[in-house]
Amino acid sequence: MQKIKTIFIDLDRTLWDFESNSKEALLELFEVYQLKNFVKDFATFHQKYRQINAVLWELYGKGKITKDLLRRKRFEDTLFHFGIVSPEITSGLTEGYVQLSPQKTNLFPNTLSSLANLKKIGLPIIIVTNGFREVQEIKIDRSGLAPFVDVLLCSEDVGYNKPDPNIFLEALQMSNSKANTSIMVGDDFQADVLGAEKVGIHGVLFDPNHHYSHRKEISKISDLSELEKLLLFNY
Ligand SMILES: [Mg+2]
Repeated sequence: MQKIKTIFIDLDRTLWDFESNSKEALLELFEVYQLKNFVKDFATFHQKYRQINAVLWELYGKGKITKDLLRRKRFEDTLFHFGIVSPEITSGLTEGYVQLSPQKTNLFPNTLSSLANLKKIGLPIIIVTNGFREVQEIKIDRSGLAPFVDVLLCSEDVGYNKPDPNIFLEALQMSNSKANTSIMVGDDFQADVLGAEKVGIHGVLFDPNHHYSHRKEISKISDLSELEKLLLFNY
């Protein structure tokens, strides 16, 4: 008998292949702004950007910087690292990235077929994300996810970022779901798995690169085609 009645699932790096999509967008911008005149190659630029972006996202997650500051500063600081001080290029990359990146459509393998199978069973699929609404809506639309998503819940709508329990409480309430018949699937162990478990939702780690293979106690999947079998377990 199927016990699980609702699936909460993360978007970035779980369904939508954030790294591939982001890299494609940055490469386009690197060429548009002819950054090879200042930086050895794209790989060097990309690596530095990722470092700086990760630090700034952490600050944003803690509420220490705003969304707008995050979006601009990650490029301003990366450019500065390579000796470029240019408000024009900074603005171009800031705006260009926000426009371009969500239009990219790379998903993890088996995303659409797996969601289609869940839909056939009649399971509501609710995306719970710390990403920005106007961006996440474009990603869902362009990448073909829209027919399979019942609700998109963004942290900025609720005022709490995962792993704050309040976002998961809101997800349960708005979908009329119970914690013990729901699962939360996501790639971030702290935000998605531990966050959900704080309110009694069973957390499942999406771990496509097997970074957590030594942690036998964690429920995990490495491919989205495994989602269906999760529904049969008693947690
Ligand atoms: Mg994620």
